[in-house]
Amino acid sequence: MPLDASRSEPRTHRLSAQEARQRLEHARDTRLAQLRALAGTGRTADDGFLAEQKAAVEGVLAEIDAAFARVADGTYGRCEGCGKPVPAERLEILPYTRHCVACRSRTA
Ligand SMILES: [Zn+2]
Repeated sequence: MPLDASRSEPRTHRLSAQEARQRLEHARDTRLAQLRALAGTGRTADDGFLAEQKAAVEGVLAEIDAAFARVADGTYGRCEGCGKPVPAERLEILPYTRHCVACRSRTA
């Protein structure tokens, strides 16, 4: 491993695994609360709006689970598009994102 490989990347731009887990846990709690709120609306399961909302929240929960797996295997915070670290400011807003802003706008 080259000694100077990471010298130009400030350590502060990466979240620690512990910080990442805390943010992901918070994001998951928020989504689970949304699911409970949706279930408590009294709407029926065949309601299209409810199904749509529920599917969207469940999709995010799946992304959060995938992000937890990336924390565990050490690839969390790395963009799947370009391989560069995703800026910490972006991970604070979207802790389960797989892409940096540039790659996101390219794939969206
Ligand atoms: Zn990227």
